[in-house]
Amino acid sequence: MIIHMYSTEGQEINMKMEKSILPVKQIIPFANVDGKGNRTAIFVQGCNLNCVYCHNPETIKLPCAETNETKYTLEDLINIIKQYSPYIRGITVSGGEATLYSSYITQLFKEVKKLGLTCYIDTNGIFNKEKIQDLIEVTDKFLFDVKGINSLSKVTRKDIEFSFDNLEYLLKLDKVEEVRTVCIKDYIDLKDTVTAISNVIKRNNNVIYKLIRVHYRGLKKEQAINIKDFIPSKKEMIELENLAKSIGVKNVVTIL
Ligand code: SF4
Repeated sequence: MIIHMYSTEGQEINMKMEKSILPVKQIIPFANVDGKGNRTAIFVQGCNLNCVYCHNPETIKLPCAETNETKYTLEDLINIIKQYSPYIRGITVSGGEATLYSSYITQLFKEVKKLGLTCYIDTNGIFNKEKIQDLIEVTDKFLFDVKGINSLSKVTRKDIEFSFDNLEYLLKLDKVEEVRTVCIKDYIDLKDTVTAISNVIKRNNNVIYKLIRVHYRGLKKEQAINIKDFIPSKKEMIELENLAKSIGVKNVVTIL
């Protein structure tokens, strides 16, 4: 089955899960790579993709007897965030895939905003925007990961096709802080991907386009061996950066 742009898996999980409980793999009290400023990053359990280079593979499996996550009530999580609130600008919910838990996170964000904090979502972009309207409304910014624009089943190990609907929609609402592509050779067509994304985001001067050279540190041994052969050279990364700039993206950050 081909899943066009969004996964209905997310909706199903949301309906099955208790809306008052969030399965959390890890909380990082102070993070500075998950959006602007010092932020508390919350990594949920469960993802609708299964990327070959995933650095949080333990978060992929949907909550089950084998997964070892902590289940937080809204009150518990708010109390934890309150402890950090004097030192942070906001929170970022990442994963796994945060949009799988849109009902809970919508409630969470409404409460967190009362503390004067901003609320971000880090997403792989595979969601049904109609189904998460409330979440979109209450989210300040999205960090939006585009895995590639074609042959995505190779890199995500799911039968999906990407379209730019969700990204364009969030850009129009000025809800995107960063678009990100993990650059891995052969699994995705890097030039086509960077070209297509750059053409979509070039008019949004404030949006950062982050090009991340895939790396294997922290991956399981078998996984790392596979990835090693597909790492772009520094020269290739700079060429991609220049390509994005030549199309008109003002704010390109390359992570080598
Ligand atoms: S979308 Fe992110 S968390 Fe999910 S499998 Fe891919 S890299 Fe891992």
